[in-house]
Amino acid sequence: MNNPLSNVNDAYTDALTGAKTRAVFDRALDAFYQNFQQGDAFSLAVVDIDYLKRVNDSFGHARGDQTIKAAADCILPVLHAGEVLVRYGGDEFVILLARPLEAANDCLQTVLRRANMRVLEGSPPLQLSLSIGLASAAEVAGLDNLGSVRDVAAEPEALPAALFELADFRALRAKRMGRNRIVTIGDIGEDLETSFSDELRLIERDTVLAGAGEFFI
Ligand code: GH3
Ligand code: MG
Repeated sequence: MNNPLSNVNDAYTDALTGAKTRAVFDRALDAFYQNFQQGDAFSLAVVDIDYLKRVNDSFGHARGDQTIKAAADCILPVLHAGEVLVRYGGDEFVILLARPLEAANDCLQTVLRRANMRVLEGSPPLQLSLSIGLASAAEVAGLDNLGSVRDVAAEPEALPAALFELADFRALRAKRMGRNRIVTIGDIGEDLETSFSDELRLIERDTVLAGAGEFFI
């Protein structure tokens, strides 16, 4: 495949984590979509660190930063060349994977195992917990009805946004199902009609981001 970010320089790399910054996200998403149209696999995961606010509040922001960096450290080494980790918001990452759903799921299981085995040194030592939502472009392209938000069959260019929304929705489900897990197709009885007319996740994130403005990258 074409390397989606071959022209992106280090100005777009987040200093804390080594992930790409949010500024790169739209371009990367579009590049993966172009490659998908040429026949490459494309899956997308939304990863949100669990309980980070509690870490900050209880042990200080330095421990919070340590936790965010550790999450990226669990993800970056398992990515293939050309795959992209974006720090999307404060403690939220997006992973763009050039793999079909099953292989992407295997990769994320590895990420979660690495995270759970990781002990964050300090007093007290901390454990890392991640909630992950995963979806594939092929899966989204096969759906002819995405509820009230988008109809990808009629509007193919809506696929990248629909893919992100589905993975984001599943990440929220992962939170609600108890955190520290991956949610993908089949893990939940998804009712797309109601789920996509429910804008709760976006509202929740906007509220959090508004409160976390000082951390923005
Ligand atoms: P949840 O388990 O539901 O994900 O809750 P949470 O405590 O992780 O909180 P949430 O994801 O809702 O909000 C993220 C928090 O992360 C809010 C903000 O204070 C903190 N945060 C965001 N960016 C940074 C950062 O760069 N450094 C530190 N230390 N904290 C950050
Ligand atoms: Mg969080």
